[in-house]
Amino acid sequence: MTSPAYDSSNIFAKILRGEIPSHKVYEDDHSVAFMDVMPQAPGHTLVLPKHPSRNLLDASPEALSQVIRVVQKVANAVKDAFDADGIYIAQFNEPSAGQTVFHLHFHIIPRHEGTALKPHSGKMEDGGVLAENARKIIEAMS
Ligand code: AMP
Repeated sequence: MTSPAYDSSNIFAKILRGEIPSHKVYEDDHSVAFMDVMPQAPGHTLVLPKHPSRNLLDASPEALSQVIRVVQKVANAVKDAFDADGIYIAQFNEPSAGQTVFHLHFHIIPRHEGTALKPHSGKMEDGGVLAENARKIIEAMS
């Protein structure tokens, strides 16, 4: 089945254009990372390429190779910042697979032994908490 074309009215495209705010932890010429507003665990961060693609299936090899380096960089910082036992990385393609925002992004979620994840797209986190968590990740990267 053919997927719909990229639609630049999605919420991450608006964040990339600076039309709506985010708690950003990293940005370079090709990629950006910011806090997920409905975290499945404290420190849940999203990494996305600036180049528009709906998901991984229509992304260019160049954009993928650039963004995966940032996924690794941010994952290490999140692991340090939240003293995590492990890091869960998730990426969904199309609604049947759980995708809700149609600009390619990778979820980086710290995991601690014995702690369950909260639901995907569950409860909105307080802005002050997100800002503090972003600060910890930025500090871990510096
Ligand atoms: P997915 O199902 O992989 O498309 O996940 C989209 C993610 O984006 C979910 O985890 C949401 O909590 C998150 N999200 C939705 N709106 C925003 C926003 N404005 N800023 C940051 N994260 C968001």
